[in-house]
Amino acid sequence: MIVGIIGGGQLARMLALAGRPLGIECIFIDPGVDVSAAGTGRHWRGEYDDQALLRRMVASADVATYEFENVPPVTIEYLAQHMTVFPGALALSCARDRLHEKSLFDRLGIPTVAYRAVGSRADLTEAVAALGLPAVLKTRRFGYDGKGQMVLRDKADLDAAWEKLSGPDLILESFVDFGRELSVIAVRGRTGDTRFYPLSENVHDRGVLASSRGRPGDPRTAQAYAYMEVLLRELDYVGVLALELFEVGDRLLANEMAPRVHNSGHWTIEGSETSQFENHLRAIVGWPLGETVSVGHTVMFNCVGHLPDPAAVLKVPGAHWHDYRKAVRPGRKVAHITARAADASGLEAATAALKAFLPGHILG
Ligand code: AMP
Repeated sequence: MIVGIIGGGQLARMLALAGRPLGIECIFIDPGVDVSAAGTGRHWRGEYDDQALLRRMVASADVATYEFENVPPVTIEYLAQHMTVFPGALALSCARDRLHEKSLFDRLGIPTVAYRAVGSRADLTEAVAALGLPAVLKTRRFGYDGKGQMVLRDKADLDAAWEKLSGPDLILESFVDFGRELSVIAVRGRTGDTRFYPLSENVHDRGVLASSRGRPGDPRTAQAYAYMEVLLRELDYVGVLALELFEVGDRLLANEMAPRVHNSGHWTIEGSETSQFENHLRAIVGWPLGETVSVGHTVMFNCVGHLPDPAAVLKVPGAHWHDYRKAVRPGRKVAHITARAADASGLEAATAALKAFLPGHILG
């Protein structure tokens, strides 16, 4: 079985590594020179919309998928015309635009953050009058890891934010004073069979995910699963879908969704019976899904802009090391560490020991 992946970053790398024991081989299209996934499959170097490479993909792979939302629409259109592509075009088009995404949440009765579309400076003034401050101004597309967004605290911030972000279409959101950030990850197969992972409790640092902890039995589980179920059915979804949520009191507000494997699910590699990566592959090739029950207590820490010494990290009992083989640059995710323990106190001990390798890290 051969899976074609648009993108050759760390998500593609972890998909390919999960595919190995199953006999699934991956092909990546990515313009990068020494991409993270290289060495775990076949890297075809070129733009994501390179016609010749897409034709080769159609001829060589059984099914196609992608590791990021901003795949050029022409790429998905071409692939979908000539081969099976999962997740489908509807999920991708909703997820790549924050306004479409929030309209979808509204339509499906999934509570979300109050928002207004902003296309002009006058719209921004009106949106601030309607939503109040603080608020967050975001680009509708191409934002990730906190990029393309600014928090507005008072009226004096509006001009600077407009100067910085205007050009592309924008959205203004109320600033949510959340208690926790959670995400729910689920997988749906070609026949509609669905499995949910335990919720992830996530801590972000300046918009970038710092840590995710598996929370089996979390009190918000039923609510999160209900939202996810509606989304999966509406989108006739196949593959792994992630939904990020803000917890406000005992309510959940949807923030955004990702039609792909997700950073907040990396802990499932060691922490679940079947990882999100294996289950995404099983779903898109049409194989039975694996169980998603937790195996112990698990937390994942991202290594952002620094690469700890693996020989030191691995001295910590229960620690697992994942090196993306990327050049270290400020703000860049280059590795992650997962700690798994049989009980909560074991996990606390591992977390305390790992602090030494996570400079300035916010430990959730
Ligand atoms: P996003 O790219 O929308 O996932 O935003 C990245 C992170 O910024 C989120 O995980 C939150 O920590 C924070 N954030 C985004 N939108 C809001 C909001 N409306 N209110 C409060 N914090 C936010």
